[in-house]
Amino acid sequence: MTIGRRIPRLALALLLTGVAALAFAQSRPGAGPPTATVRKLDGVPYVGVNDLSRLLDGAKYWRADVRKLVVRAQGHRITFTADNPIVIVDDRTVRLAAPVRSVGGELQVPLEFVPLLPRDSTQARLTIEAGGARVRIVPPGGYVSAPRIEGSANETRITLTGEGAGAAAVVGRDRAHLRVRMPGVFAGSLPDSLPRGLLVRSARRLPGADGVTLEFAVAPEAGGFRLEPGSGRATLVIAREGAALEAFAPEGPAGPRALRVVVLDPGHGGTDTGVRAEGLLEKDLTLALARLVAADLERRGVRVTLTRSDDRAVATEARAEIANRARADVVVSLHFDGYPSALARGATAWCPPARFSEVPGDARAASFTPAAMMPWRDVATRHAVEGRALAEALATALEGRGQGPARVRERLLKPLLGVNAPGVTLECATLTNADDRARVTNDAGLQALAAAITEGLLAWQRHD
Ligand SMILES: [Zn+2]
Repeated sequence: MTIGRRIPRLALALLLTGVAALAFAQSRPGAGPPTATVRKLDGVPYVGVNDLSRLLDGAKYWRADVRKLVVRAQGHRITFTADNPIVIVDDRTVRLAAPVRSVGGELQVPLEFVPLLPRDSTQARLTIEAGGARVRIVPPGGYVSAPRIEGSANETRITLTGEGAGAAAVVGRDRAHLRVRMPGVFAGSLPDSLPRGLLVRSARRLPGADGVTLEFAVAPEAGGFRLEPGSGRATLVIAREGAALEAFAPEGPAGPRALRVVVLDPGHGGTDTGVRAEGLLEKDLTLALARLVAADLERRGVRVTLTRSDDRAVATEARAEIANRARADVVVSLHFDGYPSALARGATAWCPPARFSEVPGDARAASFTPAAMMPWRDVATRHAVEGRALAEALATALEGRGQGPARVRERLLKPLLGVNAPGVTLECATLTNADDRARVTNDAGLQALAAAITEGLLAWQRHD
């Protein structure tokens, strides 16, 4: 990177919204974190500003007339001035004990500046290694170390260690694909084989741009699991029996599934705009996205039917009828979310629950048409297992392609009422979140989202 390189606004916006995290997730596990070397100038430890900028994936602007270097990184603006001990961080003035120096045309900042950099738990940060020889980057959520897997044939415990352990969550619950996700970057390696006699048969890491997702194949004799998130450490307990165990998701027959006909349901339309955010209308995005996914699938020989192909209102029953008449193998109703909080982000794949009576959050579905609900429920229940698998496949694909975080939730939402096929209502991104909005409001971003959805559908078909 050369001094004075200008970065277009869009690239800068992307850069400030987590490209650093993406770069980390793509780096080889165990490759070790990027570092910058500390050097001494007249006995004072210094680190190169270019190196700091590189670690933070920053953009630099050199103003030769005033000998100032501005680094923009992670939403912050830091101004260094040659031969001056004052560094400006956003609106804050930081006075260092020694001046910024120029060595061979590159600015060096005293090491004491590193801990004074702005800190935000959602962003990468820099830390000085023990011994002070290097500055190292710590990604958002910190590092996740290799899981410890131990126990017996009655109870197996998988311990995950990392700063983000408190936010660990089970994101896939079928026996062959028990998945746990936690924030951070994987800094360990998984064993090639596990000791015999445990309830876990294998472990692997799923590709994903957002946090670490580990998948475990669980022995058939296991009765359930329990995740205990904690400070710095999360434990996944898999046991034959015991109190407070959660059940595995029921599984359909093994082997590839049929995927001849996909019905895509672009949410809303006509006077029903759906979520509005910053001039965007959900109904327009769902239609544009449906067209892209349809093109992707048709290229692969899958027949696609859209419940609407222009900007019109279509009643829920009419959408279901289109899907049922098309003899859909799966139905994906495409939506975008909106929340009062601008911080809420990501995607949610909603699938009908396997048993309604056990789902406390089901009031929302029941409130639509209470009397007529039963037949819909029966229809939805028939496909619940495959629908759940589809929801998980879609969520995994979205995560893997940097469209996360993606959650799976069980609830029969209105768009799938009456649909006689495995179905998912996919809230593809959150339009009220600036980062999500930026991602889906350009052609490349929407195409990437479409590719992720196609990948999810194909993964569901392969059933591996
Ligand atoms: Zn919607």
